[in-house]
Amino acid sequence: MTSASQSKIWFSVEIETAREAVEAVEFALLESGALGTDVDMFGANMNAEILTVTGYFDAQIELQPKLDEALKIYGFPREAIRATGWKEVEQLDWLEEWKKNWQPVESGRFIVAPTWSEIPGPSSDKIIIRIEPGMAFGTGTHETTRLCLEAIDKHYSLKKGGSFLDVGTGTAVLAIAAAKMFPEAAIEACDNDAEAVAIARENAELNDAGTIKFYEGSITEETRSFDFICANLTADVIIPLLPLLVGKTREILILSGILAEQRELVVNKLKELGQDKFTIDQMSEWISLTLSKK
Ligand code: SAH
Repeated sequence: MTSASQSKIWFSVEIETAREAVEAVEFALLESGALGTDVDMFGANMNAEILTVTGYFDAQIELQPKLDEALKIYGFPREAIRATGWKEVEQLDWLEEWKKNWQPVESGRFIVAPTWSEIPGPSSDKIIIRIEPGMAFGTGTHETTRLCLEAIDKHYSLKKGGSFLDVGTGTAVLAIAAAKMFPEAAIEACDNDAEAVAIARENAELNDAGTIKFYEGSITEETRSFDFICANLTADVIIPLLPLLVGKTREILILSGILAEQRELVVNKLKELGQDKFTIDQMSEWISLTLSKK
């Protein structure tokens, strides 16, 4: 948070949720641009069937589309949740709480950290990425992002002048990771959400990764091909884009944002496209696929 934004009013939304749908609701809130989420499942709530998930935002927004989408992805009926209205939040309390809760996260050689946190004596082989998320997805803590960061760490070894495309860049966390590894590479990043692109640009500046080329939009027939493409989207977005994602990749394609139970959907589509050289990694219920075309 910048000092300018500390004078702002924050908003929280509380959503009553069946216990098993908590993860889906948190996902929907983060996808909707929540700055953080909270769920009280301890103490008196230890065995409660219905829990309350709180999402914190810097503006009141329409949540239903992302909630519906998340419930569909996770396979819950719409009745699994009940939204209760928005509240204004005592901004300092909320800010302090959020700062305490969002700790730097290490994935591969990367440490993704909020702008205000101190990282005690990071070793010299670590790459630090500072993120100011605003209303964009990508604090570096979500499993889908962590799987991508680990895959970038492991597979991104392009020769000087290689190229990298981040489809659905959010806060730009993945594009920045790529730029930190190879500042001389040609790195592009897109998002179909204009606000995310603006936030992504700011984060790139913050990390001295000013050479990343950002644009509002997605991967299309007109997109040029890239050595390395990373797409942390949801399975329902990835599947129709797969012909383009595979077609535009020269060496390595990372697909993330896929639930373990959606694995066959993506694998079958890749096989339909004649691709069978891929590995799968898993972190809790999320998987990523790394396709090699080399
Ligand atoms: N890359 C970040 C953010 C992933 S969230 C990370 O790994 O943490 C997914 C992002 O993709 C969101 O910002 C969303 O706005 C964007 N998005 C969703 N569908 C898209 C599409 N078809 N093309 C481009 N961006 C898309």
